[in-house]
Amino acid sequence: MDKIITLQIGITDFCNFRCKMCVQSDVNDFRVNKKGFMAFSTWKGIMDRMQAYGKRFSILLIWIGESFLHPQIADFIRYVYESDSKNLLTSIMVYTNGSMLTPILSKEIIDLTVKHSKRFDIVFSYVSDTPDTARLMNENTDFDLIVKNTREFSDYAIKIAKGKIGINFQYVITKENLHETENFIKRWSEYFKNSCVEFKLIYDYYLESWETHNYKISLMPEGNDNSEKQNENNELFSNFLQKLGVIDKPKTENCDRFYKKEYGKVKCSSPWEFYVVNWNGDVTACCKDFELELKYGNFLKSSFEDISRSAKLVAIKENLLNDDYEEGSLCKHCSGFKGDFSKIYDGDA
Ligand code: SF4
Ligand code: SF4
Repeated sequence: MDKIITLQIGITDFCNFRCKMCVQSDVNDFRVNKKGFMAFSTWKGIMDRMQAYGKRFSILLIWIGESFLHPQIADFIRYVYESDSKNLLTSIMVYTNGSMLTPILSKEIIDLTVKHSKRFDIVFSYVSDTPDTARLMNENTDFDLIVKNTREFSDYAIKIAKGKIGINFQYVITKENLHETENFIKRWSEYFKNSCVEFKLIYDYYLESWETHNYKISLMPEGNDNSEKQNENNELFSNFLQKLGVIDKPKTENCDRFYKKEYGKVKCSSPWEFYVVNWNGDVTACCKDFELELKYGNFLKSSFEDISRSAKLVAIKENLLNDDYEEGSLCKHCSGFKGDFSKIYDGDA
């Protein structure tokens, strides 16, 4: 069976938060004068091209910005559900900081999902378990509002969809919030205790976080492209996992080498795993490519078939396979993205 195509779409690169570990808090504002919101016609163009291509695909709504800031997000979801005459869409997964997810919006999306019998997963990104630490991580936040929105979405989804909508949490462990991670896990596992069909705590983030479960909490270390700093973050993370009793020994290998050593071929699966789509329809090989250096196509100008066969994409994959990068290029000093390598060489490498 063909591998499912994953479109990772940033319908906006604006965010109302400034989390300390995110590019949004970068003092050298990224994408100066290039930020925007996807037009409905662009979304329609992408979805129509996927129908014309005729292969199964999933949508991951996350890239740099907060998707629920987009005033048409429910219209986008309605369109992809209604236009999916060939039943090609396998799932939609949306990451959110939860601040804009009003009860009206939650209800609209859940009702649409149930009506069309689709798979929908929401991932609430948390960086704390208390208002004080939330403000330390991001001064724009309103912790109580986020908790309220999370509960309202979840309660309605459980009531209406009876476990068919995935409710997920992502918690990035940092020095500042480590001390409240256990309470965070406890808070949400207790909240879902009586309605859980299946509950899973995920910590091997890169391998398992994309899998769908009805309720899950994914823990992950803070990312850093500096290998030394990344190793410190990994050590903090793995010490916590040991304390929690979910792993026996620490994982502190240097990131670059760890990916390569463990999987033997390439350090990064991103160009094989994701078609990362910018709000203006540009497609790039990587979600770390904020300035679109690895752009290899545009959905408004080409069919999906042409995009997936782009000569630039082939060259990007070859460079990764051969460990051959231009000095100063994005991939040269990157610690990589470890995806599900079991799928990489299954057909489309
Ligand atoms: S909510 Fe997400 S996109 Fe926004 S600043 Fe925080 S981590 Fe970045
Ligand atoms: S090596 Fe790094 S920059 Fe290059 S595609 Fe992979 S994750 Fe992106």
